[in-house]
Amino acid sequence: MTVSPDLVCRDLVKDFDSFRAVDHVTFEVPQGSFFSILGPSGCGKTTLLRMIAGFQSPSSGDLLIKGRSMLGVPPNKRPVSMVFQHLALFPTMNIGDNVGFGLRQRGVARSEIKARVTQVLERVGLPGFSERRVEQLSGGQKQRVAIARCMVLEPDVLLLDEPLGALDLKLREHMKIELKALQSEFNTTFVYITHDQSEALVMSDKVAVMNHGRFEQIGTPHEIYYDPKTAFVAGFVGDANRFDAKVSAKSGSALSMVTQAGTQIEVEADASDLSVGQGAEIFLRPEAIELAKAQADLTVKTNTSVGVVTSVFFNGANSMVSLKDAKAGMSFNVALPQTGAFADLQPGDEVYTSWHPAKARCYAHDGA
Ligand code: ATP
Repeated sequence: MTVSPDLVCRDLVKDFDSFRAVDHVTFEVPQGSFFSILGPSGCGKTTLLRMIAGFQSPSSGDLLIKGRSMLGVPPNKRPVSMVFQHLALFPTMNIGDNVGFGLRQRGVARSEIKARVTQVLERVGLPGFSERRVEQLSGGQKQRVAIARCMVLEPDVLLLDEPLGALDLKLREHMKIELKALQSEFNTTFVYITHDQSEALVMSDKVAVMNHGRFEQIGTPHEIYYDPKTAFVAGFVGDANRFDAKVSAKSGSALSMVTQAGTQIEVEADASDLSVGQGAEIFLRPEAIELAKAQADLTVKTNTSVGVVTSVFFNGANSMVSLKDAKAGMSFNVALPQTGAFADLQPGDEVYTSWHPAKARCYAHDGA
C-alpha cells in the first residue's frame, strides 16, 4: 500500500540577501511517519522548518501539505503545529489551560475544550494533570505537555525544533523513546530537526542529512549509517576513522590504494567516479575493524596491521580503543569486542587489526 505524502517540499530555496540558507531542497514525508532533518549548526534546518510553519516565505519553490500549496497561507491557517526547544509553556497557567490555549483561541466551546484536553492528557500519559502547575512538572512531563498542546489541535504535521536540546543527557535518552512512542500513538507526521545524530537515528523512519543548505542524502537510519552517499554524511553520522589514499589499481569495484604513509590497502566500493592516480577519502567505522591479540587469530585476512594501544575508553557496550598504527602511519579507533577477551588491554599493548575491503566507504576528493 502506498501512503500519500502529508508534506511535499519542491525545490525550496531561501535567500537572505546574497546568502543562500536553503538551496534547492526537495523531499516528501508520507502520512504518519517520523522524518528528521539532521545537520550541523547553521546548515539551514531552522530556516527550512520556519518555511514549513509559515514564519518565513520561500524565495522560490513550492510547499504542499495534504496536496495543497501553502504559499501565501499564514501560519495560523496551516494544518501544522510546532514544538519549540524551550517549549514556551505559559508559567502562570495550569496544565489544562496550557493545553487548551489553542482551542480557546479558535473559539471552541468550553465543554469541548475540557473533554479534548482531558483526552489528550491521557494519550500523552498525564491523566489527571489538568490542575497542576507548570513548575510542579519534571522536564519529561513538560515535554509531554508541549506535545499535548500541539496535538489537541489535531495538526496534519507536527514540527519539532530540537525539543530535547535543553534536557540533561539521561532524560534526553529516555525522551527519544517516548517521543517515538507518542508519534506512533497519534499516527501524525512528525518533522523533527536536530544536530544530534543519535536522536535522528533512534526515532526516525527517514533521515535527511543537511549541509550548507542542501540535502546530502535522504534515507532510513540504516541506509544513512551503513551506506552514506557522501563523505560529509560518512563523517557526520556515527563515529568513523577517516584517512586519505590514492588509487593505485582498479578492477571493477576492487580498488588497490596507497595511504599517505605508503601502506597498501584493498577497498571494495562503487568506484565509478574513481580512476587510477586519483585521491580519495576513506571512512571506516570502529566496529568494522577486527581486533586480535595474535595475528593468527584474525578471521579477516585482508588489510591486516599491527598497532599499539594509546588509550582505552570503557563505556559499556560502546567501549573503544585508540591505536597508533606505525605501519599505516596513523591513529584510529576500534570498537572493543564484548567478549571480555580484551578486558585487560592497556596502553602500550600490541594488537593486530584487519578489515574487510567492503567495510570501507570511499569518496573521490572534491575536485581531485
Ligand atoms: P542551528 O542548529 O544553529 O539553529 P540551523 O541549521 O537551524 O542552525 P539556520 O538557523 O536555519 O541554521 O541558519 C542557516 C543560515 O542562515 C545561518 O548561516 C544563519 O546565519 C542564516 N540566517 C538565518 N536566518 C537569517 C536571517 N533572518 N537573516 C540573515 N541570515 C539568516
